Amino acid sequence: MSWSSQEVRLAERPRGRPDASTWEIATTEVPEPGPGELVVRVDLLSLDPAMRGWLNDVRSYIPPVGIGEVMRAFATGEVVASQHEDFAVGDPVSGSFGVREHALSDGKGVTRLDLDVAPPATWLGALGMPGMTAWFGLQDVGRVRPGDTVLVSAAAGAVGSVVAQIAKAKGCRVIGVAGGPDKVAWLRDLGLDEVIDRREGDLVRQVRRAAPDGIDVYFDNVGGELLDAALANLARGARVVICGAISSYNESSLPEGPRRYMSLLVFRATMQGFVVFDYEDRYAEGVAGICELIAADRLVATETVLEGGVAGFPDALLGLFDGVNTGKLLLKV
Ligand code: NDP
Repeated sequence: MSWSSQEVRLAERPRGRPDASTWEIATTEVPEPGPGELVVRVDLLSLDPAMRGWLNDVRSYIPPVGIGEVMRAFATGEVVASQHEDFAVGDPVSGSFGVREHALSDGKGVTRLDLDVAPPATWLGALGMPGMTAWFGLQDVGRVRPGDTVLVSAAAGAVGSVVAQIAKAKGCRVIGVAGGPDKVAWLRDLGLDEVIDRREGDLVRQVRRAAPDGIDVYFDNVGGELLDAALANLARGARVVICGAISSYNESSLPEGPRRYMSLLVFRATMQGFVVFDYEDRYAEGVAGICELIAADRLVATETVLEGGVAGFPDALLGLFDGVNTGKLLLKV
């Protein structure tokens, strides 16, 4: 038996925003698994801002996706055939299966999911890579303490919404930044102390109004203007966590900033970047911590699930840059 499988390949490296010429949609046959292999039917694809970075032929923490290769993507699905001793037909699993309907795998990096703990979507969101990014980024890199004033950008997104809720649970004063009134209202309902609508502009003043005594931790998901606005409003000893810079991912030239970096000197502050994969051997700790917060009703795991299947991937990816998502953005296959 074999499985017909639609897949999305990288046709051409984009300059700026990816478009139709970036991708090729093709159909292949996935064969029966050989010894030590399994076949997964992919059900949900994770859409991640990092995907844009993986399209660039530059030195990074992971090699770029090659021209003609299937686009890299985290996903969940179900084992439909197995000759692997750790996986049986019917097992729900997650892994880096790629943008395809069926994946042949050797089991490396594949995890069996406990659906009694959470549904697959949450295993890609609050209990997956974004949740781990929030957990370790805020606590290990941001060294957050009760009473801190924490500013988080893309606060209604996958990583940001978890950061904001962990910080609240830790007894911090939390200020979120998001795009548009619906997200602002959603974040207020989550219990954030202040919410800034980035579309209203004048970010330096908006941050100052929300944090008159300065920011102790800035969890930066977007870079650009917002990073400068945060740097302009630091408290003494502040920690600036560089998690991502989505505002520049589709730019074809380097951003000008950060222009306010001398605030690091004035306020005896630090700015540190991190890559979540360096915490892989501690994920169990992060999962347990976030599960505890969910069980105590202190953290709500939220996902936005788009329809459209594998062929809908090119448009769905752009949704991240247009801010269509509340919580983790996923695509149903
Ligand atoms: P999100 O779910 O937060 O989605 C992206 C959000 O970014 C959008 O919803 C939008 O929210 C906001 N956004 C889009 N364009 C802009 C812009 N030009 N300026 C400001 N905001 C913008 O994505 P994730 O939670 O998955 O990722 C968040 C960040 O974390 C990304 O930068 C990502 O690269 C990074 N990351 C880093 C990791 C690491 O190991 N360091 C691991 C995982 C993620 P809105 O419109 O509401 O502002």
